[in-house]
Amino acid sequence: MIYAADIILPISNPPIANGAVLVTDGRINAVGVKDELLAANPGEEVTEFADAILMPGLVNLHGHLECSSFDFLAKPTPFSEWVGTIIQAGLKMQRDDWLSASRAGVKKYFVSGITCTADITRSGVGLQAVAEAGMPALVYLEAVGIDDRNLTDAVVDLLERVKSAQSILGVGDIKVGLSPHSVYSLSKSALKVCNDISLEYGLPLSIHLTETQAEVELICSGTGSLASTIGKKMRLEVIKQGGTGKTPAYYLNDLGLVRDSLIAAHGVWLSDRDIALLQEKGSAVAVCPTSNELLGSGEAPIKQFIEHGLEFGLGTDSPASNPDMDLFVEARKARAILEKQLGQAKPQSEVSAALSPKRLIEMMTLGAARILGFADDLGSIDPGKRADFIILNHQDTASDPYDYLIETASKSLISQTILSGNIVYNR
Ligand SMILES: [Zn+2]
Repeated sequence: MIYAADIILPISNPPIANGAVLVTDGRINAVGVKDELLAANPGEEVTEFADAILMPGLVNLHGHLECSSFDFLAKPTPFSEWVGTIIQAGLKMQRDDWLSASRAGVKKYFVSGITCTADITRSGVGLQAVAEAGMPALVYLEAVGIDDRNLTDAVVDLLERVKSAQSILGVGDIKVGLSPHSVYSLSKSALKVCNDISLEYGLPLSIHLTETQAEVELICSGTGSLASTIGKKMRLEVIKQGGTGKTPAYYLNDLGLVRDSLIAAHGVWLSDRDIALLQEKGSAVAVCPTSNELLGSGEAPIKQFIEHGLEFGLGTDSPASNPDMDLFVEARKARAILEKQLGQAKPQSEVSAALSPKRLIEMMTLGAARILGFADDLGSIDPGKRADFIILNHQDTASDPYDYLIETASKSLISQTILSGNIVYNR
């Protein structure tokens, strides 16, 4: 099959006008100018997309497929209250509910042009949903709500989930990781056990880190709104002992979890010193602007991430705090946050160039694929990679395609999403 479009955005190479991609057995066989590709492959079936850009599918750095039915929780709510409501909503879910929510979540992703994701699953069914859909994913098994009272049972359960997850490996392009939920929903011993399991089974890590200022206060001094909410449900030494005097990032580092396989979700309240630490250890941050905005958590220090050379990308988080799940919107918001942090002083600086439209599109595709360890397989249109594309309506042929996408695109411009060469969403 040859897919042709007015513009192909390979990401790894400059845009191709009147381009085409030859797909064989779900993989990219060749990419180039349409007329040349047609001449070289006579008799090959051709699908032409008119007034369209063809680009790689988007890669989401932070999501929770199993929470896709929780959009009713997406209301401006203080974080410590919102956490309570999402836990309550979760208690009402049975395994089948989680599974149907995860399957529906995959469909929502295809509508949003997301063809690869970092997914956090508490129930474990996120693995099944992406495997069924043939969607590449790094699925993190979540550990949450563990203190020293339920530690033994929780570890047995976690090890069982890790072992059963191993059986799904080899089904499509799926990797398994481990997600200790956060430094405030796991005791120190529980975090240490997560570190041990991650090292023993070679599982990459993801954690919600400094999503709110209240989390920093809880870890540093054992006080604040989150400490009073969590303190009622869990026994945490950090609260009992009046804090650690450290930031969450340094606390986590002392326990061994700040490593090159770590993706810290949110990172809103990371200090300069924390950012330097994460950069030095080779960790990355998944920035989730809409979720932070809705819950009033603040804005990630994107300017400092860039100045320190810390790797970061964009995540949707779940519909419980971002019902739209539109990475184009997240990209625009990230750029607006950076512009605000830069002020009027140096609009053309190197820092602002780090989030140019071209760099943002790269961040949403190849950059995120690199962070998740999928860059050899997806994220750009290159021979040998998976044929995972999105097709976007493109009327404005005069402007630069990257500018066009970042200025105006949203998921509503996506007309088709293609996974392994097959159309999985057709508007
Ligand atoms: Zn999250």
